[in-house]
Amino acid sequence: MNKRIAIVGAGVAGCAAALSLSRLGLDVDLFEAVAEPQPIGAGLLLQPTGQQVLQGLGLLEPLLGLGAQVDRLFGDTPSGRTVLDMSYRRFSPQAYGLGLQRGALMGVLWQAVRASGVAWHCGVAPSRFEQQADEVRLFADGQPLGSYAALLLANGSFSRLREQLQLKQSARVFPYGALWTVLPRPAQFPELDLRQRFRGARQMLGLMPVGRNFGDAPEAAPGINLFWSLPLAEVQAWHAAAGAQGLERLKREMVDLLPLCEPLLAGLQDPAQLRQARYADVQMARWHQGRVLAIGDCGHGMSPQLGQGANLALIDAHVLARLCASQGQGRLDWPALLARYSHERRAHLRFYSQASRGLTPMFQSDQRLAPWLRDRFFGWGGRLPFVHQQSVATLSGVKTGWLWGRLKL
Ligand SMILES: Cc1cc2nc3c(=O)[nH]c(=O)nc-3n(C[C@H](O)[C@H](O)[C@H](O)COP(=O)(O)OP(=O)(O)OC[C@H]3O[C@@H](n4cnc5c(N)ncnc54)[C@H](O)[C@@H]3O)c2cc1C
Repeated sequence: MNKRIAIVGAGVAGCAAALSLSRLGLDVDLFEAVAEPQPIGAGLLLQPTGQQVLQGLGLLEPLLGLGAQVDRLFGDTPSGRTVLDMSYRRFSPQAYGLGLQRGALMGVLWQAVRASGVAWHCGVAPSRFEQQADEVRLFADGQPLGSYAALLLANGSFSRLREQLQLKQSARVFPYGALWTVLPRPAQFPELDLRQRFRGARQMLGLMPVGRNFGDAPEAAPGINLFWSLPLAEVQAWHAAAGAQGLERLKREMVDLLPLCEPLLAGLQDPAQLRQARYADVQMARWHQGRVLAIGDCGHGMSPQLGQGANLALIDAHVLARLCASQGQGRLDWPALLARYSHERRAHLRFYSQASRGLTPMFQSDQRLAPWLRDRFFGWGGRLPFVHQQSVATLSGVKTGWLWGRLKL
């Protein structure tokens, strides 16, 4: 019986799937292109759904010790018009978002993967697969890596392996990206939840507490994630053009938009501290073909406006493991199982993909009308109890339809 499966990509999706499936007794080969994986990116907000999945894996507790609780999201314009004001308590009295350094999340996941029976191959980038009736063969640079009962593609939005699936699919890069970093919280800095300020859809600054990184000493200053939206071409050109003067100019623009960030920016001394982010809207007719499945950003990359990408990746892993467990101890029928997975994930993923695509032009684009409508109606709408409740449920990651559907984990 071939119980061996391969997973490509040791990000959130790949690690969560590797852990969940190895705990069911499957033999897992996890391939990661980077020879010595480092946590890339800055901070993210883990929603109640993602927290629930991590709790099931026994990994929430260490993350609670590292991250920062975020109870409220608040965003406004320079003229003081409230655009969003949402509190998780309106979803459930115990609910909150968990602000995390990406390094904290990946550090905890990688530690668990290392301690599990997963065979982790770093510095190996599979580039091609071949599906047969009863197995999938995986190759890197023309060399065979092995044959597997199933293959999970978890190698992010820009996966070339996904393109080998004979499925209708598209990956459209968003015209805006971001510069982002984590800065140490100055001693006198005000307590804050997630704080955003918008000028039209061309300027956006976000601050969010994200706690400590994996391996930090307990007395290390907690971090604050800083997110600065820019057109993609400017993101990509920024480091080459920046220099010390460019950095000072950028800091002045940030302070002009949101003066409270000034003391925090003392910790931003080098352009290299700012990491570049770009994201793509990935659409797939379904996520599986035969024995191959795309999970995480590889299957449904989206812009980070709703803060859902890592959560969706965790839920993908959870649902797949549940379906595997429900097939029992015998030989797994992978094509049938992956077809059930696509069916079960459809409503949830479709909702978040549509919502994120609809919201993105209001927050990151050259459009004028969309942010004008946002500024006039979002704050007002958010004061209506039904709209507020729907918005917080959306943020919490549980919606499977525009009106009533709710995810059951
Ligand atoms: C600015 C920004 C803010 C965000 N904020 C949030 C947030 O607040 N909340 C949230 O939930 N999400 C957020 N996200 C989204 C979240 O980061 C992603 O959805 C999540 O990291 C996706 O995880 P993944 O494992 O699917 O893919 P990735 O994290 O992209 O991991 C893919 C892995 O595959 C590896 N790889 C690539 N190609 C190969 C290959 N051929 N062979 C082997 N390995 C390969 C890569 O090296 C990488 O390790 C944000 C994203 C951005 C850019």
